[in-house]
Amino acid sequence: TETDDPVRFAMVGLGWWTREQAMPAVASGDLCETTVLVSGDREKAESVAADSATVDHAVTYEEFHDGAASEAYDAVYVVTPNARHLPFVETAAELGKDVLCEKPMEATVDRAEQMVAACNEHDVTLMVAYRMHTEPAVRRAKDVVDAGYVGDPVFVHGNMSEPILELVPDPDQWRLDWELSGGCATMDIGIYSLNTARFLLDADPVRVQGSVASVRPEFDDVPDEHAAFQVDFPDHTFAVCTASQNAAMASHIRVTGTEGEVRVEPAFYPWDERRLHVSHGGSDIDVSFEQIDQMEEEFEYFSHCLLTGEDPYADGEHGLVDIRALKGVYEAAEDGRVVEL
Ligand code: NDP
Repeated sequence: TETDDPVRFAMVGLGWWTREQAMPAVASGDLCETTVLVSGDREKAESVAADSATVDHAVTYEEFHDGAASEAYDAVYVVTPNARHLPFVETAAELGKDVLCEKPMEATVDRAEQMVAACNEHDVTLMVAYRMHTEPAVRRAKDVVDAGYVGDPVFVHGNMSEPILELVPDPDQWRLDWELSGGCATMDIGIYSLNTARFLLDADPVRVQGSVASVRPEFDDVPDEHAAFQVDFPDHTFAVCTASQNAAMASHIRVTGTEGEVRVEPAFYPWDERRLHVSHGGSDIDVSFEQIDQMEEEFEYFSHCLLTGEDPYADGEHGLVDIRALKGVYEAAEDGRVVEL
């Protein structure tokens, strides 16, 4: 059963997502609250803290690693660039704090494995922050597939694309820096098609192949301004996924089966008003979904797990499957190989 005491979160990394999405979501949730902010920039942390009714402590990364204010939070939410997740998760685990870590969990397979090992060693709960598992439209799509309404799934098609340099007009941003990101379109947004395909099929990939390309000079440091990859699931179900950081903003996921089809479109952006389309035996159903706060749903779910001792669905091993598959795409794209997972 849940207690009356909400889970107290330390937010690590105060970028746009933390300030504009996560903090308001936690403020409106019943099971969680933000009590500590952790930043490389003390002044920023203090000014964000001043705007919050629940934050009591603003600390630097160094102070966090030294255990500052550790009595004031129960769990951490890690929202730094991908290749800067591991050190914060390791410190949190050593302090006995549970972890909600942003996707993709780290920039390399090795570092993602170290993250899982640290959380296991210190017996803390680790969840990777995928928004789609608690999204009502995607959950209904899963119900449709699970009920056999599309027959046996044959194909999944997924796309997510955006003009990142228009959204974040900074050529030096970490998403375009291989060392900080571990990959561009594939790692940052290709992960949505892959992970949602796994969720809808209730299966894990067995092999990948793919192509990547960087065309504009701003993408010189990463191989994948654009990416297209194929993911094979057991029983010959194929997912074909595309992702671009330099194309029109669009997203969808579709499962085609022996008897019909289910599609969520738009699918992956938090501000989308999702629509679910189902076709079966010559009839079509089209359902609109009210926009919900995906981050509130996600924080409430994670907090519920911590308060009840339930294991979260997207644990560290779940996140690792994505990192192995996505890193496999880069390997496959180098020389057109098929990479077995
Ligand atoms: P931002 O660039 O907006 O913020 C990242 C923050 O990390 C910075 O503001 C900074 O915070 C901190 N930071 C620490 N080290 C560095 C560094 N070397 N370079 C730059 N920033 C650093 O990124 P996002 O918030 O967009 O992304 C952060 C993480 O969240 C990523 O893993 C990303 O994939 C994930 N994300 C997930 C989303 C989702 O829908 N689930 C949506 C958006 C992002 P400070 O100044 O406080 O130190």
